[in-house]
Amino acid sequence: MGAVAALDLFSLNSHIGEEEAMVRDTARQFVERRIKPEIADWYERAETPVRELALELGELGVLGMHLEGYGCAGASATAYGLVCTELEAGDSGIRSLVSVQGSLAMFAIWRWGSDEHKQEWLPRMARGEAIGCFGLTEPDCGSDPAAMRTNARRDGDDWVLNGSKMWITNAPVADVAVVWAQTEEHGKGRGIRGFVVPTNTPGFSAPAIHKKMSLRASSTGELVMDNVRLPASAMLPEAVGLRGPLECLNEARFGISFGALGAARDCLEATIEYAGQRQVFGRSLASFQLTQTKLADMTLELGKGMLLALHLGALKDRHELRPEQISLGKLNSVRESIAIARECRTVLGAAGITLEFPVMRHANNLESVLTYEGTSEVHQLMIGQALTGTSAFR
Ligand code: FAD
Repeated sequence: MGAVAALDLFSLNSHIGEEEAMVRDTARQFVERRIKPEIADWYERAETPVRELALELGELGVLGMHLEGYGCAGASATAYGLVCTELEAGDSGIRSLVSVQGSLAMFAIWRWGSDEHKQEWLPRMARGEAIGCFGLTEPDCGSDPAAMRTNARRDGDDWVLNGSKMWITNAPVADVAVVWAQTEEHGKGRGIRGFVVPTNTPGFSAPAIHKKMSLRASSTGELVMDNVRLPASAMLPEAVGLRGPLECLNEARFGISFGALGAARDCLEATIEYAGQRQVFGRSLASFQLTQTKLADMTLELGKGMLLALHLGALKDRHELRPEQISLGKLNSVRESIAIARECRTVLGAAGITLEFPVMRHANNLESVLTYEGTSEVHQLMIGQALTGTSAFR
């Protein structure tokens, strides 16, 4: 009897439109041709040709693909999600590059920026000629961004930024940073505002963070701002308070609901192939009941996760998706994908710890994905708040 690919068991195509399937397949071919042959080496050396890839991803049309106008494709949320799955089947670092560019940096400018901001940055960012980053997290505050210390002070018509951001994806290679800072504006929660900062502004630097054991194919850095002087027009006019960055995070979290499952799918596919070839006790590893139990359980979680992600995609395309529903997707997809990656590792035995197979790389990457864009605990608290009407954050 012939084998069926794990996700084919779920006949997911009935949830995916023709155009969405086409975009997904194009992204899959790109990952097979451009990412998979190189990724182990980029990961091992922690050196990825980000600039080159950004241009290629721009040509593919996936940077800010779910945004309308300014050279963006205006694709459906579901199409964007499916592309995230394919990119993360290559590597979470590559999907992170695209998420941060499209869902954080470009989205912030598209949603909250002035027309000049949009004209200046979005077309170049969509083409991958300009790379963006998004600075919210600081050395002393991640899950609680309201506690940020980076501040912007008025000096005449100008703004002067001081402070530092930590763990910022794309920072060392970025041309533009969207930076969130406290201002002295009055009114509850209105103090946090966003700024569009060209990275060549005097006083701005973005040193790389080294020695990561996760997301090694992604460029991560700090943002250091020492009296960075910006014109009044640098402020995102429409983003007032924490709602500004949080709406951006929701966009990226939605993409991760799809993306993380790509990493899990790649692990599972590699594992099924390995188990079919590996001989133990005189038979193929795949022919043992214990192995098949693992494969069946992992396939079930992967398919359930994909069905939830596609449901969230359909809700988003109808403009009905609520933040706590995004939390359901992000929490489930990353948590189950890590569990799948670790279980796959057991099937591969010692071979599973090497870069010859994608499993350990994905498992390590998913540790970052579990933490960024809201940790699992943060999403549990958001779901808990929706269920009980009581916030347990503080
Ligand atoms: P903390 O907030 O200190 O949390 C530590 C632990 O405490 C976690 O387990 C957390 O869940 C738990 N915790 C926190 N609050 C509560 C609570 N109320 N109740 C119970 N438990 C709680 N940030 C950006 O702004 N831009 C980026 O581009 C970016 N890229 C990143 C890339 C990588 C590779 C990584 C690792 C991180 C990135 N981040 C980025 C930062 C990321 O968003 C933060 O690390 C994340 O928000 C968690 O913050 P923290 O690390 O300070 O942990």
